[in-house]
Amino acid sequence: MTLPKFAYFKGKIVPYEQAKVGVLNHTFNYGTGVFGGVRAYWNEKDEQLYLFRPLDHFRRFLDSTRLLSMELPHTPQQLADVTIELLRAEARKEDTYVRPLAFVPDETVGVRLHDLHADITIVSIPFGRYIESEEGSSVTFSSWRRIDDNSIPARGKIIGAYVNSAFIKTDAIRAGYDEALVLNADGHISEGSAENFFMVKGGVLVTPPVTDNILEGITRRTVIQLAQEELGMTVVERPIDRTEVYLAEEAFFCGTGVQIAAIAHVDKRPIADGKMGPFVGKLRDLYFRIVRGMEPKFHAWNVPIYPKS
Ligand code: PMP
Repeated sequence: MTLPKFAYFKGKIVPYEQAKVGVLNHTFNYGTGVFGGVRAYWNEKDEQLYLFRPLDHFRRFLDSTRLLSMELPHTPQQLADVTIELLRAEARKEDTYVRPLAFVPDETVGVRLHDLHADITIVSIPFGRYIESEEGSSVTFSSWRRIDDNSIPARGKIIGAYVNSAFIKTDAIRAGYDEALVLNADGHISEGSAENFFMVKGGVLVTPPVTDNILEGITRRTVIQLAQEELGMTVVERPIDRTEVYLAEEAFFCGTGVQIAAIAHVDKRPIADGKMGPFVGKLRDLYFRIVRGMEPKFHAWNVPIYPKS
């Protein structure tokens, strides 16, 4: 991976090499930090890079910092403005991933959340697919359980919590799958290692509720709105059993990284005929047109990076 040229660090855009923290910093030692992930899509025809729903991402990002009692003066708009400045400095003309991080720079020993400082850094990298087989991924049920809201809240994008995701992802890949679905302690589905889950069942779109230890995904919210308003689908948020997925008509993951990825097989069992279903196909087409700024109705979600000529 080529490293970024610039980083937002200590309140300004600096060369990436200057964005350095001491090894004793609290986030490095205790996982007490927050991250985000925002995509920007290059539109060749418009010669424009469109950042997708940055304010929604930064709102959730700042909510996550509040869960960790981090005191930060930033507003979502300020962070979106900094991101625009950063992407212009990089002069990116390709699909890009933006990674904001809220961290605790204090170099002291003693695990806690209080009496510490917080700071924000943002970097960006070129980014293509997160899962190669977006049109038909092969998934298993992880033997790991999802962390519970009363252990580490999954609704925050808390750095330390992603050790859970790392176990889930690596074991899935080592077993020959693209991803894994993760069960809560009560046996119901939460989500994938870093993506939300949906299935079509009885012609209705079903997804786990926000009380089932999921990250409240921006893409999940996008999918619910598009399904209801554009694709005429009823959406139900309710607990999902493992074997309901085996018998689903369609299933997919969604998230900033994974975008919309059809699930073709679960535990080697085909979902319906083992091919991407018609609803997921339509949703993917619409989603990719929207994120690339090709649907005027949704332009409010596309923030252009370069001044319009
Ligand atoms: N769940 C988890 C655990 C994630 O890490 C992500 C990626 N941010 C998602 C769901 C999807 O969230 P979003 O659509 O906001 O990217």
